[in-house]
Amino acid sequence: MRAAAIVVSGGSGSRMGRPKQFLPLGGSTVAELSLACFLGMPEIESVVLVLGDEAYDAHAKRLAHPKVVVVRAGQTRMGSVRNGFAALPKGVEVVAVHDGARSLITAEIVRATLAEAAKSGAAVAAVPVKDTLKVVEKGAKTVSGTPDRATFWAAQTPQTYTYSVLKTALETFASDADATDESQLVERCGQKVAVVESSYENFKITTPEDLTMATAILEARGGGRRESRTGFGYDIHKLVPGRDLILAGVKLPHTKGLLGHSDGDAVLHACCDAVLGALGLGEIGIAFPPGDPKFKGLNSKEIVANTLGKVAAFGGEIIHLDATLIAEEPKLKPHYEAMKKSLAAVFGLPESRVSLKAKSNEGLDAIGRGEAIACHAVATVLAR
Ligand code: MG
Repeated sequence: MRAAAIVVSGGSGSRMGRPKQFLPLGGSTVAELSLACFLGMPEIESVVLVLGDEAYDAHAKRLAHPKVVVVRAGQTRMGSVRNGFAALPKGVEVVAVHDGARSLITAEIVRATLAEAAKSGAAVAAVPVKDTLKVVEKGAKTVSGTPDRATFWAAQTPQTYTYSVLKTALETFASDADATDESQLVERCGQKVAVVESSYENFKITTPEDLTMATAILEARGGGRRESRTGFGYDIHKLVPGRDLILAGVKLPHTKGLLGHSDGDAVLHACCDAVLGALGLGEIGIAFPPGDPKFKGLNSKEIVANTLGKVAAFGGEIIHLDATLIAEEPKLKPHYEAMKKSLAAVFGLPESRVSLKAKSNEGLDAIGRGEAIACHAVATVLAR
């Protein structure tokens, strides 16, 4: 099941006196906490973040991430959902639409709506209403009725749909600008909308007191942030004539290359070991034993793909890689940009979250004599 999310943070935030989406919260911001929940879910392949013009200009560039597409909000909430929908990757099967002001959303609630929507077409996170409701007619000052509270649920987000159900609703009611959520359009199409019991903590942060409550809840959850772990990796390969020199996935011009059972890419090997080390998941030689004939001449990008699969299964998120090459020859500085770009792409990280540098060994030892190239790497990984 290919799943994506639309996080709508397009409101002007008039009740806070200034745009509320980027108010600080839990060491991050209101909108970014919502975004982080979806980015931390391996089953969500893409998140479309919808921002008002002011927020877009201030933050879109900074939020660049391989899994995030930032688009501008529409005139209304429905306009924003339509803009987000138009930016979804092709072939997505299930779409979770989330209000970016519900920063305390958890992966468990999102998952429950994804599963229910995949089964029945549409699922809305909601909670039973706790207060007794009173009907007060427009303009009246007296109660005209007390409905049975047991039949009322307060709708939250995510509101999750199969792609075709949401598409049909948005197309059928293309001129509807006033709907406060898209699930009412889905209902009007005759589609049954399932209710997924959510948490009262998944409230919308719209007033200063909401921010105070959200801060308290995040503190109770342990800061609302996942544990950050550091891993270290090291690799060395012999430099010999007659082989391609491949570092960080880039073929570099040189008369020699790194000897190895695989392509000998010491940068990717050291980085993978650092990532696995951060999560206590061993090292690359376990999944790819040196000497196993089926891995002869292996492209090390496959080792990275295997490592990323382990990170995803663990629920981890790589937030930074720092690699230091040690080489006497060739000169690596002219290739920094290409190697860094490639390293970021192979690991699916923005370039701002990758660092690559090189040192000579000052003529000392085997590396100093140009007989080998080594790489040290440090990875910072968020664990579940
Ligand atoms: Mg190696």
